[in-house]
Amino acid sequence: MMLVSVFDTKSYDREYLMGAQKGAQISWRFHEFRLSEECVSVAQGAEAVCVFVNDRVDRPCLAALAGLNIRLVLLRCAGFNNVDLDAADELGVAVVRVPAYSPHSVAEHTIGLLLTLNRKIHRAYNRVREMNFSLGGLVGFDLFGKTVGVVGTGKIGRIASQLFRGFGMDVLLCDPVPDQTWAKSMGARYVPFEVLLESSDIVSLHAPLLPDTIGMLNVSTIALMKKGVVIVNTSRGKLIDSGALIQALKSGHVGGVALDVYEEEEGVFFEDLSGEVLADDELARLLSFPNVLITSHQAFLTREALSEISRVTIENLLAFQRGAPFLEGTQVERNGPTG
Ligand code: NAD
Repeated sequence: MMLVSVFDTKSYDREYLMGAQKGAQISWRFHEFRLSEECVSVAQGAEAVCVFVNDRVDRPCLAALAGLNIRLVLLRCAGFNNVDLDAADELGVAVVRVPAYSPHSVAEHTIGLLLTLNRKIHRAYNRVREMNFSLGGLVGFDLFGKTVGVVGTGKIGRIASQLFRGFGMDVLLCDPVPDQTWAKSMGARYVPFEVLLESSDIVSLHAPLLPDTIGMLNVSTIALMKKGVVIVNTSRGKLIDSGALIQALKSGHVGGVALDVYEEEEGVFFEDLSGEVLADDELARLLSFPNVLITSHQAFLTREALSEISRVTIENLLAFQRGAPFLEGTQVERNGPTG
């Protein structure tokens, strides 16, 4: 029987991991709190830990895990910016992730956010429930014929581009590793980042969080954008400098923002803080704008994605137990490809 300590467990993690087990000899120890150095001891006796985006798998945490002879970290997500890969490598701890559980889930949520923000569906929903059937303040714009800039044309960016094309939008792309053949087949074109910013009515971020993408939307890059631009970020919060974004919203330079991720989401997103005082002033300010729509990192949350996350996690766990290779492309290594 393999024992796995699962951190930051939500009801759906429990349901889908147990549902995908299909007779495999796995015993899950579910914890609702996140993994960090301070709480590693609860994993005593486990062969692996299973974590999500906001667990802090830094060097001290990995050293403590190795001290308990835990040599496997199973990420229930694609991003791995919360894991110190150098430390994992040095300590002999394998790190695996789920690189593509459902790029459709995130791309479709991107469209959902854009439509909701632009057509003010969230406001209309509340109004109608109050028997207020007026339309004042609910004017949006047609997506048809507008230009959208897609930053990052990996798995999610490509599907988002396809969906944008479905609305009859002009799609501009940027990516350090462009795929011209795909772009041509899509009727879209690659342009430099600055040109994309200058030309787009909507900018949608699908790039990973890397040292060179942190704060890619900042005071100077936001200044390049069209007045009234709508920004959608379903990728990683730290791609945007929140302070710069707030200033641009206040001045009216940015016309709307839809976020599924936020720079400082750790400890806030995924939690019920409805009875507490929100300590993050920037998040509180963002929430106060009528033209900002925020969801709490839920873009991945579809049945299909949860099933795939559980399947890959369990297959990798069983492979580890047998001493077999992990599923192709799931191991994250120090000098491997970036997520
Ligand atoms: P991917 O690895 O398939 O694609 C990322 C693309 O970004 C690659 O083509 C890469 O070359 C490109 N890129 C790298 N640096 C860039 C830069 N400076 N400018 C433009 N492009 C750049 O990843 P993916 O599966 O498409 O996921 C994209 C991001 O979405 C992930 O990094 C992850 O953080 C995020 N994500 C969010 C959720 C959610 O629930 N909100 C779920 C899954 C993934």
